[in-house]
Amino acid sequence: MDTVIKSNIKTIYNQDYKSLKELFIDYRATQRCLPAFNVNDNYDLKAVVEASDDMDTHVMVMTYPPVAELNTTEVFRSLVDGFKKRSKNKIFLHLDHSTSVDLCKRAIDSGYDSVMIDGSQVSLEKNIKMTQEVVNYAASAGVVVEAEIGKIMGRDVVVKSDNDFLADVGEVKQLFEATDVDLVAVGIGTAHGFTPTEPKIHFDRLQEIAEAIPAPLVLHGGTGIPDTDIQKSICMGMSKINIGTIVHNTYMKYAFEEMKKAGNDAYPPYVMKEVLPKIKNVVKDRLKAVNYK
Ligand SMILES: [Zn+2]
Repeated sequence: MDTVIKSNIKTIYNQDYKSLKELFIDYRATQRCLPAFNVNDNYDLKAVVEASDDMDTHVMVMTYPPVAELNTTEVFRSLVDGFKKRSKNKIFLHLDHSTSVDLCKRAIDSGYDSVMIDGSQVSLEKNIKMTQEVVNYAASAGVVVEAEIGKIMGRDVVVKSDNDFLADVGEVKQLFEATDVDLVAVGIGTAHGFTPTEPKIHFDRLQEIAEAIPAPLVLHGGTGIPDTDIQKSICMGMSKINIGTIVHNTYMKYAFEEMKKAGNDAYPPYVMKEVLPKIKNVVKDRLKAVNYK
C-alpha cells in the first residue's frame, strides 16, 4: 500500500500533457503549481535540471530580459534543448518580465514554450493592447502567454499604498476577457528579491481574483514567501510560481567565496563544480515547498 501511495505522489508532478497550455489548465483545476526558476547560464540551468530530476518533477526555467539579450534567445533555446535530452522530466523555457513586444516575438520565433509580456507599469488600455499583440503572435506557434496586472514590489517598483500595488479585480477581468491570455500574474502583496519584513499576501484579493477569472494565476517573488503561504496560494489558484533571487544570490555568493579561496588560480570549471551543488540545494528546497502534496 505504501509503495502505491508513494508512486502516486511521485507522478502527480511529472504527468504527460499534450501541451503546456493543458498542463496549466489542469494544474489550476487540481491545485498544483509549476515551479519556475530564473537561470542565467549553463551552470545554474544544470543545477535546476539536476534538482528536478532528483525530485521527479517538471520544471520551468526562465530568462530575464538581460539574460535573453546577453545570451540571445536562440542560444538559450539550444542550451535548454541540450539538457532536455538528458532529463527524465519536462523542462519548459520561458521569457520572464519582458516589457518589449519585440523581445517576446523573438523568443516565440526562437521556440520558447512561454513568454511574459509585462504591461503592469503602463495604463490598462496599453497593457491590453500589448498583451493582445503578443497573444496573437503566439497563437499559431502554440506558445503560452503570461500577462501581469497589479504591481510586484521591489526592484524599481515603488508603491505608496495597498491600492497602488494590489491588482484590481475589475481590471483583471477586463484584461483577461479582452485578450484571452493564458496566464495572469497578479499583484497581491509579494515582492521581488529579499525583503526586510515578510511580505504580506492579500489572500482576500487573491480569492476575489480567482473567482472572477478561470485562468491559471502566477505568483511572483517566490524567494521571500513562507512555505505555508506558498501552499495556501496554490490551493487558491496559483498555478505557476516564479523563484529568482535565491538562485542568483546563491550563485554569486558561493562563486565569490570560491574565487577568493583560489585567488589568481581561480579556474571557472573548478569554481563552478563547488557552486553548482549549492544552487541545486536551494532549488530542491523550493521544489519541496511547491510540490508539497
Ligand atoms: Zn516577477
